[in-house]
Amino acid sequence: MSLTETDVSDAFRDLAGRVAGSVVTPSDPEWDTVRRAWNLAFDQHPDVVVVPAGPADVAAALAFAGETGRTVVPQGTGHLAAPLGDLAGSVLVNTSALRGVEVDADARVVRAGAGCVWADVTSALAPHGLAALAGSSPDVGISGYLLGGGYSWLAREHGLGCTSVIALDVVTADGAQRHVTAEDDAELFWALRGGGGNTAIVTAITMRVLPLATIYAGMLLFPLERAGEVVRAYEHWTRGLTEAATTCVRLLRVPPLPDVPEPLRGRAFVGVNGAIDLPEAEAAELLAGLRALGPELDTFATMPASALGVINMDPPTPVPAIGDGTILDDLPEDAIERLLAAAGPDAQTPLLAVDLRNLGGAAGRPAPGGGAVDHLPGRFLVYAVGIVPDPALAPAVSAAVDAVREALAPWAAERDYANFRETSVPAARLWPADALDRLRAVKAAYDPQGVIRTAHPLS
Ligand SMILES: Cc1cc2nc3c(=O)[nH]c(=O)nc-3n(C[C@H](O)[C@H](O)[C@H](O)COP(=O)(O)OP(=O)(O)OC[C@H]3O[C@@H](n4cnc5c(N)ncnc54)[C@H](O)[C@@H]3O)c2cc1C
Repeated sequence: MSLTETDVSDAFRDLAGRVAGSVVTPSDPEWDTVRRAWNLAFDQHPDVVVVPAGPADVAAALAFAGETGRTVVPQGTGHLAAPLGDLAGSVLVNTSALRGVEVDADARVVRAGAGCVWADVTSALAPHGLAALAGSSPDVGISGYLLGGGYSWLAREHGLGCTSVIALDVVTADGAQRHVTAEDDAELFWALRGGGGNTAIVTAITMRVLPLATIYAGMLLFPLERAGEVVRAYEHWTRGLTEAATTCVRLLRVPPLPDVPEPLRGRAFVGVNGAIDLPEAEAAELLAGLRALGPELDTFATMPASALGVINMDPPTPVPAIGDGTILDDLPEDAIERLLAAAGPDAQTPLLAVDLRNLGGAAGRPAPGGGAVDHLPGRFLVYAVGIVPDPALAPAVSAAVDAVREALAPWAAERDYANFRETSVPAARLWPADALDRLRAVKAAYDPQGVIRTAHPLS
């Protein structure tokens, strides 16, 4: 063993002695498990992984990184692993053990560990008839989602998820543990709600939740050949639509996998899915125009709010995927034609899905006391994704994702939504200039050495 390797082993051993959770190195049997991102297309190789048991372990990881000239990469699930790039020279802080959930049903508040996924939170809230502004997928992490914004099936009615956050327990780069609120470390509180995890490592999040036991939600599916008709009808339907409805139109090519239900397996669809928070009769009346088109499958019904995690049919387990997103200011006829040319019934595309979620409502307005991102511009949030079971397929899937973004570029909004950008982009695409200046000032104050490294840095 060379002197350098001995030094490295000693340093890792020293770190392990300072951590109550675990410190995992490339020679440990758990290495492949703890370094793995949810998105299996991105093979992460940090120098070492710390799985903290609490905030003190996060402080130890930060101190170690500072002492050894490394960066610290906080990660809950690795849904947004794609833009991180090469992790050489980094300590990956895998927060997956920070999973406690405390519900204060009377106050309608929940405090959840930073490593929680949405299923942890929604299942704890459901017995109390409460719901959070949760993502479409039960295994998306609450931290990346809320720090980046958070577009839920309730977003047009209640705003972005980050606007429901009332406190964050964090460890800053100097190792200090802070309870950050609108009163304490107010600038940091502002920065973390929409600015990503650039300014501190979060260990727990406290958020307001809603009294919502059931909701009218589901999906309509039509054969993909009807994409033009359905997308046009949907675009028209969303004009002036009540804020109680948060929905999506999607072009979907279901893979021929054995665990996919037989009626969907290997087939291609255009679908409309989402939630309408109105009494059932009113919601059904609102949906009548789209239903009149005669879907092949119609699952819209009153369901438990905790079941909102299934209506997008997001993969329930880690997958290798390449995806990316954009926001559209509008979806005129030209844009629909270009969308269909790129991913419609006649397109030869390896994409699994192209989703266009309807924006606006409360998610389109600044929120009182909001953070670095408290609303999104535009009318539609687009996300195109393909599965990459074999790395050899990556160039084709990547090109197909780019083709959708390029086809729709003439209608792209001035900004993108960080959580749906899975490539590295200039920070100016994600934050308005004044917010970016303010975020950089907070970063300079709380992490002057730039030890914390995230999916979307402020540079
Ligand atoms: C299948 C799928 C469905 C999705 N559905 C939605 C949806 O409905 N609505 C929506 O808005 N988005 C959605 N997204 C996007 C999702 O919000 C982002 O990928 C988000 O970043 C995931 O958060 P995570 O913690 O799971 O990911 P991670 O990759 O673990 O984290 C992403 C980034 O968040 C930051 N971060 C994470 N944990 C911490 C921490 N403890 N401290 C500081 N920073 C931290 C870091 O910058 C990290 O790089 C979806 C993504 C996928 C793949």
